[in-house]
Amino acid sequence: MSDIPMPGVELSNYINGEWRFANCEHWIDDYAPATGEHIASIPCSSSEDIDAAVEAALNAADDWAALSIAERAGWLEKIAEELEERAEEVAQLESLDTGKPITLARSVDASRSVANFRFFAEQGREFESEIFEMKDATNRVVYKPVGVAGLITPWNLPLYLLSWKVAPALLMGNTVVAKPSELTPMTASLLAEVMEAVKLPAGVFNLVHGNGLDAGAPLTSHPDVNLISFTGGTATGREVAKSASSGFKKLSLELGGKNATIVRADVDIANMMPGIVRASFLNQGQVCLCGSRILIHESIYDSFVGAFLEAVSNMVVGDPSDEETELGALISEDHQNKVLSYIDLAEDEGGTILCGGGPPVGIPEAFDNGYWVSPTVIDGLAPDSRCATEEIFGPVVTLHPFSDDEEAIEIANMTDYGLAGSIWTADTEAGSKMAERIDSGMVWVNCWLHRDLRVPFGGVKNSGVGREGGQWSLGFFSEAINICVKH
Ligand code: NAD
Repeated sequence: MSDIPMPGVELSNYINGEWRFANCEHWIDDYAPATGEHIASIPCSSSEDIDAAVEAALNAADDWAALSIAERAGWLEKIAEELEERAEEVAQLESLDTGKPITLARSVDASRSVANFRFFAEQGREFESEIFEMKDATNRVVYKPVGVAGLITPWNLPLYLLSWKVAPALLMGNTVVAKPSELTPMTASLLAEVMEAVKLPAGVFNLVHGNGLDAGAPLTSHPDVNLISFTGGTATGREVAKSASSGFKKLSLELGGKNATIVRADVDIANMMPGIVRASFLNQGQVCLCGSRILIHESIYDSFVGAFLEAVSNMVVGDPSDEETELGALISEDHQNKVLSYIDLAEDEGGTILCGGGPPVGIPEAFDNGYWVSPTVIDGLAPDSRCATEEIFGPVVTLHPFSDDEEAIEIANMTDYGLAGSIWTADTEAGSKMAERIDSGMVWVNCWLHRDLRVPFGGVKNSGVGREGGQWSLGFFSEAINICVKH
């Protein structure tokens, strides 16, 4: 953090339809992870800025809630159209701000952000509330807005995750105060520009930049915020839950993961390998759903590991703006150090580094000051070791043999997390049965991150509370009220 605005872009908050400088003495520096260059400064906003944003959201709440759901769906469609016009800009900013490959930023971040608005617009147009008839009465369920929604998001999929919350929150008639990650503020500001361009009524969408303690915490504890949707780390989620609980706010927590990829003996290794490598390393392993523990049937262990290492060594790591690049940089120097410290720990815990283990060799000089770790594969760790059970959230995968399905399930469930998992097998029925016994919110069989936006999304155990996606989002971002009329 510096005391004076640094060169580069200075981002403002967007409150009540206006760009406002924050009530702050400090600025937070935003760096490009690939090069370590300073690219922007964001205000270190305070509780006063949060108060102003919540007040604007409260003032706008009644008029927004008075619109029909079809009218609000129309607004989402307009936002989707405007965002789509700027999709390439979203991809470029996201790649710069996160260090991820431009191809990934285009195919996942930019396109899914547009799709989120479009999907919830469609959900709004199709929305029908329930009627429950009794012999002598009719029950009608009415979905009312909750009020002001506080939305807090992480850095790994910045606009993808923010739009996943903003769209259903607005659709169901809430007004919004968004607090994106201080590490990746760029596309949240772009979204505010989109809201301005489509002339969304003032106060319906408000954006406050800043860090967790100065801006996030006052949002979660604000008495006029009725709902908090938080995506981020488990330790932060615990603080958010404590802060939100005293006001009985509606709360959704999408937290960390330590997901197992289970490779059964009957797997077609060559066919499934691209999917398994993608599950391991997409976004440099910085997706909460990534399979960072690969459990392999002992009968195919050696052949699988050989093929896996060959596939990993062929991955192109380097310049995120190059269309051939498959893996970019990690989000920050702190995060790079955290990931490297886990690799050191793996050696202390008796693991063998089969590939990677440090910064990649041979990337251009321009990236010397960036935050790089090459894809790392570790063998020989006990399945209950720290490296195999704690979330590393980087390009690091541990390998573990198992002797039968029972043991695979036991190892898969050996962590405090319960977000996702995948099973790779020729026997889809056996895989599907096995999936039911994995303690996690989502399990894919012979695929990974194959998303239908209608399905429930969320974790169990320390991976979170609540579900988002399709009707679950609509339910979370509203209060279902029953009106019973006696005939
Ligand atoms: P983080 O918890 O450090 O920060 C997330 C957000 O919370 C940021 O905007 C931050 O400023 C804010 N914050 C921090 N302290 C706060 C506080 N006391 N009160 C309110 N807000 C606060 O997480 P991160 O490092 O940005 O993201 C990585 C984590 O997110 C990983 O653990 C990953 O698994 C998880 N994640 C989960 C999902 C999911 O869907 N389950 C998706 C993406 C990322």
